[in-house]
Amino acid sequence: SKQRRRGVTTLFSQEHEDAIRAERAVESALRGADLAAEMEVHYQPILDTLTDEIVMVEGLARWTSPTLGRVPPDRFIAVAERCGMIHTLTLLLFRKALADAARLPPQIELSFNLSSHDLTSSGTVIALIVAVRQSEIDPRRITLELTETALMRDFDRARDAIRALRALGIRIALDDFGTGYSSLGYVHRLPLDRIKIDRSFMADIGTDLGRSVVSTILDLCKNLGVEGVAEGVETADQLVTMRRSGCRYVQGYLIGAPMPLNALLDSLDLRAQA
Ligand code: C2E
Ligand code: CA
Ligand code: CA
Ligand code: CA
Repeated sequence: SKQRRRGVTTLFSQEHEDAIRAERAVESALRGADLAAEMEVHYQPILDTLTDEIVMVEGLARWTSPTLGRVPPDRFIAVAERCGMIHTLTLLLFRKALADAARLPPQIELSFNLSSHDLTSSGTVIALIVAVRQSEIDPRRITLELTETALMRDFDRARDAIRALRALGIRIALDDFGTGYSSLGYVHRLPLDRIKIDRSFMADIGTDLGRSVVSTILDLCKNLGVEGVAEGVETADQLVTMRRSGCRYVQGYLIGAPMPLNALLDSLDLRAQA
């Protein structure tokens, strides 16, 4: 009925309005933020299943706003992109991560997420390179994680930027692999070092079909000559399955959740003693 339809519409627009209001609150807090003081990078360990050692950590942005409290990156990265703050934010986080990486054992590599806007902005790519040069970190210890969105924005520019970064020794990972619809169309046209298998695949790894999807992705990695990294490994069964499927690197709550630098350093010490 008409009455009922109006009810649904009202409900929908109410939710829509709430979402817009929440996003405006994030935007205004972000614009007014003291980014250097409020932003932090946490680190999630990545395990080499061949050696059973932590060989890499992924840096993940953490924002504690004095007005909003903890805001997850899924909520503020997109806002930063839209209000023109992503260049500043990416560089600030990257410099923090490089400084933190200098305190890690030298065999541990740093993986860092770029926004889809970063790679197609030549100013950002140059600034990232300068930041690496000014740090004490060997570029070969750094991986930059990109999503498909970054590549779809402007494939040629993205590819040129990837080439420039790789020429310095920086590695490139394709993040969230399998979630986009066009991955297979271009993945062989890009110089990549790693493919991160999206965590949505872990949910079905207990079924034959799920396992065969993952082994198809791992075959693709092998054919492309890139390393596969499984994301979102939460259970021992998932770890065993990934190891058996020939996936060398795994990341997820089972190995360790993202944590502040000091907690990471402590946990690496504990592992070394064990
Ligand atoms: P992502 O790059 O795919 O990062 C992995 C996300 O999965 C992280 O969420 C991590 O905490 C979560 N995660 C890790 N292990 C598990 C697991 O076993 N189970 C489950 N359910 N989740 C797991 P987080 O930290 O909330 O980050 C969300 C997204 O925000 C990231 O997804 C990335 O796209 C973006 N992001 C985070 N930090 C940055 C940054 O510094 N720059 C940019 N541009 N984006 C960032
Ligand atoms: Ca990532
Ligand atoms: Ca991911
Ligand atoms: Ca993601």
